[in-house]
Amino acid sequence: MAEEKPKRLCAFQPSDPNAPKHVGLTKQHVFGDWMNNLFGRDQRHRAKFTNYRQDASPVRIGGYKKSAIRPGTITTMQLRVVCSDCNNGWMRALEEKARPTVEKLVRGEAVVLDAQAQLAVAAWATQVSIISEYYSEEGQIVSQDQRDQFRLTGVPSSGWTVWIGYYLGGSYRHFATQSRTWDRVAPIPNSTDTEKGDVSLSVYVLGHLFCHVFYRSHQRTLLAPPTLPGLIRIWPIATPIAVWPVLPKISDPLIGGLMQSFRRFTSNSFYPERE
Ligand SMILES: [Zn+2]
Repeated sequence: MAEEKPKRLCAFQPSDPNAPKHVGLTKQHVFGDWMNNLFGRDQRHRAKFTNYRQDASPVRIGGYKKSAIRPGTITTMQLRVVCSDCNNGWMRALEEKARPTVEKLVRGEAVVLDAQAQLAVAAWATQVSIISEYYSEEGQIVSQDQRDQFRLTGVPSSGWTVWIGYYLGGSYRHFATQSRTWDRVAPIPNSTDTEKGDVSLSVYVLGHLFCHVFYRSHQRTLLAPPTLPGLIRIWPIATPIAVWPVLPKISDPLIGGLMQSFRRFTSNSFYPERE
């Protein structure tokens, strides 16, 4: 007798075991289907989604491996990892809040972001980062509890940092990448101790919007990832009124250099041994 396959649950299934199960997964546009209005179906707007991870082999610590490359366009990128209630409910509401500002950023229009707008864009970028983890088969760094918290509050936790910049280049015009590593060791300030945690670094370039999203599960360290000059930190909010665009503009060589820095940043790490 064939065993019944367990139904896959929504990425935002509540962590409370007594909560009703979020089943019936639907396809969801990773960046929001409203991106169609901005880019149309122009095939030049290709975005290779590259997912990097540290090499699992203990003899090759420091190896840096592409684990998944998903070609497609920003507008066609879809995943089936959330239920229709989440997709059409709070996730859509979150996207709609961010959409007016994100559209201006993508088009390169000057915009003043108050605290509310900064949070809306940061929450949207966080949602993209959480969902795009599912491109990889290696599991998620953001825990079920963290995803549940995000669903309930719509606010990124203290583990998240989001920056935006003004992109003016050609090669990375529609670009998405995520680098993740497990057990990244970091020193604890004023102590000889270290703390291990998982980190994820994402860069999304959509038109003129350069977006850098960092997540760390560390609680006690002040782990700071590589960034670029000319970025505004919109989460945690650094300034109540952020004026965009900012200088210097983000060029192709700057992004190339940042990708190199990501590799160095994640090399101080190794995979947990598999049981
Ligand atoms: Zn759900």
